Amino acid sequence: MKIAYLTRKLFDGINNGYKQNVAILVENNRIQSIIGINDIPSDYILEDLGDLYVIPGLFDCHVHLVWNGCTDPNFVMMNESNEKTAVRAAEHARLTLLHGITTVRDVGGDYKAVLAVRDAVAEKIIRGSRVIAAGNPIIMTGGHVHQFGVEVDGPHEARKGVRTMLKMGVDLIKVMASGGIYGKTELPGQPQMTVEEISVVVEEAHRAGRKVAAHAEGLEGIMNALEAGVDTIEHGNLMNTEVAKLMAEKQVFVVPTMAPFYLSANFGSEKGYPDYHIRKSKAVLSGSYNVINYVKEYGIPIAAGTDCGGPNKPHGAVVYELELMVHAGLTTFEALLSATSNAAKACGVESELGTIEPGKIADFIGVKNDPFVNISALRNVDTVVKEGRVEKRYGVGCEIENDLSILKLGQNDLIEITT
Ligand SMILES: [Zn+2]
Repeated sequence: MKIAYLTRKLFDGINNGYKQNVAILVENNRIQSIIGINDIPSDYILEDLGDLYVIPGLFDCHVHLVWNGCTDPNFVMMNESNEKTAVRAAEHARLTLLHGITTVRDVGGDYKAVLAVRDAVAEKIIRGSRVIAAGNPIIMTGGHVHQFGVEVDGPHEARKGVRTMLKMGVDLIKVMASGGIYGKTELPGQPQMTVEEISVVVEEAHRAGRKVAAHAEGLEGIMNALEAGVDTIEHGNLMNTEVAKLMAEKQVFVVPTMAPFYLSANFGSEKGYPDYHIRKSKAVLSGSYNVINYVKEYGIPIAAGTDCGGPNKPHGAVVYELELMVHAGLTTFEALLSATSNAAKACGVESELGTIEPGKIADFIGVKNDPFVNISALRNVDTVVKEGRVEKRYGVGCEIENDLSILKLGQNDLIEITT
């Protein structure tokens, strides 16, 4: 099938601004070329995207498809069958797609459910975002989100843990290098797993051609993960100048996930979060803002991730993370890159995805208003094309979409920005 998508305004995911009056020529699932509207070969079917602003399909580099975004998603998951969790995860992937996110990187969940969804989407059994999956994270005994972690102690067990996940077919490895805000007794500043253990995780993953994403909120955990050679730092709240410079030099990505910390600190009480959760979020939220400052100052590569599925983050909400990034100081252009071409690099799929260029897989979306002017334009996605196929048009793709209006910026901003 040959389709020419006509657009007045095309952001290709690389250059700041729009190409005017061009057609994206798509054959089967790939972009063949981008040419002037008057030069379209006669054997192409025309699909006019009108005045929509067309941009690459978005990425969310940090989701948990097995979680449903309620106040205690772990509790829900632990009290239902694996089969129901898998069905739930499939629906989450579908909703995510309808919000313009054509690719997600799932950084933790039951591997059986997540890999089943990944494969079902890839085989077009179901519709949904493309899934790049970590399966179950590698953690120390009792470590962060131990409810679905592979608990390992010592380098030998760490090696076995990674090999087990690779055997199941995961696309990347997730490792927990510090505590977090979810558990009652864990602390964000607490390092988890030793450098030696994380190094073994990285060695095994890299040997198999897989990247390693490290959950690391506290300084020591971040430093351990960097020393071990991980590819992305998730959260990174309490990094300092020295670490920021090192990440920029090594071009290690940060995925700040501002959303969970911002939501908990600003709206945790009204949502009924436990006190310890709110307290810890408030303690590390200014760190998230510092991360954006470091990104601006030193050039740490940044990719957008939401922690969607986690408490009160409905799936498909990458726009909220982008709004927070802009609130913290990124330009709309930088924010857009973090969810398109830079996100693809963080996931190691930049040769196939992340931009609208000849040879790439044909993933792009259309929105009515200009996201360069206001990033919130991405809250209303009109059209979604994934692998050359229209998944949503004129805002119509399904009856029910997740309501993102619950995600807002605080009325009384609790953030103390410290630099
Ligand atoms: Zn997470």
